Amino acid sequence: MTRLSADVAIIGGGLIGVWSAYFLAKRGQRVVLLEKDVVGAQSSGTNFGNLRLQGRFPGQYPLSLRSQALWEQIETLIGDACEFEATGHLYFASSEDEWRKVEAYAAVSESHGLTIEHLDHVDLRRRYPWLSDKAYAATYSARDATANPRLVTPAVARAAKGLGVTIVETCRVTELRTGDGAFSLATDTGLSIDCGQVINCAGAWALAIAEQFSETAPLFPAGPPQFVTEPFPYFIRPSVQAVDGTVIFRQIPRGNVILAGYPRTAADPVANRAPVPLAKTLAAMRHLGAAVPALESCHVIRVWSGIEGYLPDMIPVIGPSLTTPGLFHAFGFCGHGFQIGPGVGLCLSELIVDGETQTPLAPFSIGRFTGAVEADEKFRREFDATPAAGNKP
Ligand SMILES: Cc1cc2nc3c(=O)[nH]c(=O)nc-3n(C[C@H](O)[C@H](O)[C@H](O)COP(=O)(O)OP(=O)(O)OC[C@H]3O[C@@H](n4cnc5c(N)ncnc54)[C@H](O)[C@@H]3O)c2cc1C
Repeated sequence: MTRLSADVAIIGGGLIGVWSAYFLAKRGQRVVLLEKDVVGAQSSGTNFGNLRLQGRFPGQYPLSLRSQALWEQIETLIGDACEFEATGHLYFASSEDEWRKVEAYAAVSESHGLTIEHLDHVDLRRRYPWLSDKAYAATYSARDATANPRLVTPAVARAAKGLGVTIVETCRVTELRTGDGAFSLATDTGLSIDCGQVINCAGAWALAIAEQFSETAPLFPAGPPQFVTEPFPYFIRPSVQAVDGTVIFRQIPRGNVILAGYPRTAADPVANRAPVPLAKTLAAMRHLGAAVPALESCHVIRVWSGIEGYLPDMIPVIGPSLTTPGLFHAFGFCGHGFQIGPGVGLCLSELIVDGETQTPLAPFSIGRFTGAVEADEKFRREFDATPAAGNKP
């Protein structure tokens, strides 16, 4: 049996884990990161790649903007740009009612200093002649961006390794014990870790860790279905989203159009499967064609989804355990953890090294689940209506 010791052990090699490792190592911490598969194998590597600032939970803006500033320096930070590009993001409404909603989102973004352009029907036709009349009006944020999720997590892991982090893949943490202000972790490979602090960023599997310390949250697994088309000449620069969620798409400079749409699909973290039903592929193609008539008869060449942890209030858990000093949770990113990943890693490193962070994390406390939890309006809209449809455990 091998035994390692560290200041901090990180459970989970998704984006949250590798950025936490990176920032902790920069602050001189000895870090071991344990991943049951390979880094970036789960939602961090399978996501859509949107770094969207528009339409976020109001209490998340300080974290989200801090994170975007890190994304904007990614090449300097890790020596690899990972196809980061400030493509801009167009949020479109199809009716007056939806337009009021989009403008309300914009008002929140603007109150946090984001520059938003308000485009009426005429502006839209002039700037984006490829959009159909389904797009009645839209807001545009130039600072929103995209990056390639398949590249990012391994690249941050390489940078963290370069700073001295030990990364152990195909190694599942099976048990955590605590006593005398320290932790001991057991794994399925026989490796044991002794450490002073632990980050539980095990994605859709994180409850198994939290519950060992008498903490819980109504976490359930799901994933939005994703599709990619055959390549076309590059003509769509911004990332585009219908506010009703029926279609979200972006074109990469290689020509393929990546698209997604709600409702999200059930995922099975035990069997490690996130299937995409055929009906969802057909619906996605229909919605894309309705928004961009030039793509009406395009072919989808690949479909996939991912396994992500969701919570009914559609915001994550980030912060210290309320039962166990030295334990920190960061899970349940509800479909938007790619954008805030670097910021979450930085905040966790500050909590661990400095005992505090300048970024407000109170809305994300695991303590909010002690009473009844109110489901967010997005939760009702973004998931299939009945448990029989398979979204809820
Ligand atoms: C299809 C899809 C599209 C998405 N699109 C976007 C988007 O466009 N923009 C955006 O901001 N977000 C998006 N998201 C959400 C985003 O991908 C996630 O919020 C983010 O990747 C979460 O990162 P994570 O590190 O918490 O989780 P994960 O990437 O799931 O990492 C957790 C890791 O923990 C490991 N693990 C679990 N248990 C153990 C254990 N016991 N021992 C060791 N390792 C363990 C897992 O194997 C996994 O690799 C999308 C998600 C999906 C699924």
